[in-house]
Amino acid sequence: MSTPIVIAIDGPSASGKSTNAKIIANELGYTYVDTGAMYRTLAWNCLQQGIDTSNPEAVAHHCETWNAALAHEDNQVRLRVDGYYPEAEIRSAETSAVVSAVAAVPFVRDWMKARQRDCVQFGNLVMEGRDIGSNIFPETPYKFYLDASPAARQQRRDDDGIQENLATRDQRDSTRKSAPLVIPDGATVINNTGETPEQTSGRIIAEFNRLKSAGP
Ligand code: C5P
Repeated sequence: MSTPIVIAIDGPSASGKSTNAKIIANELGYTYVDTGAMYRTLAWNCLQQGIDTSNPEAVAHHCETWNAALAHEDNQVRLRVDGYYPEAEIRSAETSAVVSAVAAVPFVRDWMKARQRDCVQFGNLVMEGRDIGSNIFPETPYKFYLDASPAARQQRRDDDGIQENLATRDQRDSTRKSAPLVIPDGATVINNTGETPEQTSGRIIAEFNRLKSAGP
């Protein structure tokens, strides 16, 4: 069997990663992986279990012992904890407020990296996050970095009815020591301010096809 293809999509919050990654996975018949949801699941579970999310050692210890496993369903990968996927809970303001702190813990990043690399067992992937092209699959030739103006990104979050100051989370994600948000080497940068998801995903698929036919 040939090595699975990984399309890596990185970028700051509300840069359109999830919307576009889902469209692309659907069009290409690849499996969609939302790595932010994996960090959110751990953050939610820490809150549930009364773990102090500002204490890196307590978070690392919880990550070492929690009962979480990958599940492949509906063409996407989910992290189930005690057999449950907390789909709505991980989008709450409470979870969003602590997820960056949880995601900055080096043990957590190593734990997630191993699971995220394991996702190739499910075949070709469209994986989105903050460090996919730079740290999880640096070997993939298909790297994209999405961005949009701060005003456009904040507007998208407001339109979703989610109250959150994105600048704070982006600042934490970009300045942490362990695998911060960066533009991966060799990534195609796409600023999608003012574009529809159809336009942005169309640009990504066109560039992916061009790179694929150009070969290594
Ligand atoms: O993409 P989403 O906004 O759901 O990600 C939630 C948080 O998870 C990010 O703000 C970041 O702290 C963390 N994250 C990360 N690395 C990834 C994906 C998400 O650190 N690959």
